[in-house]
Amino acid sequence: MNISSMSEWIFVYVSVWLFAILFCVIYSEIRRRRFEPKETDDRVFRCSDCDFVYTDDPTVERARCPHCGCMNDTFTF
Ligand SMILES: [Zn+2]
Repeated sequence: MNISSMSEWIFVYVSVWLFAILFCVIYSEIRRRRFEPKETDDRVFRCSDCDFVYTDDPTVERARCPHCGCMNDTFTF
């Protein structure tokens, strides 16, 4: 094996690794975009009366608890 074929193999090896890393980055980005909006779409509420955690539309300020009917403010983590 001479020097030029050696550097060709290194180039191929590095290229394959770069494509593998690039594929992983793109794949995780697609996964992140698919799952992220779902988490921030609805507001999370926590009932002050029965501690039941539920979600409602992001446009509403207060939501009624489906468990006991008590009105609750937005729950912030
Ligand atoms: Zn409740």
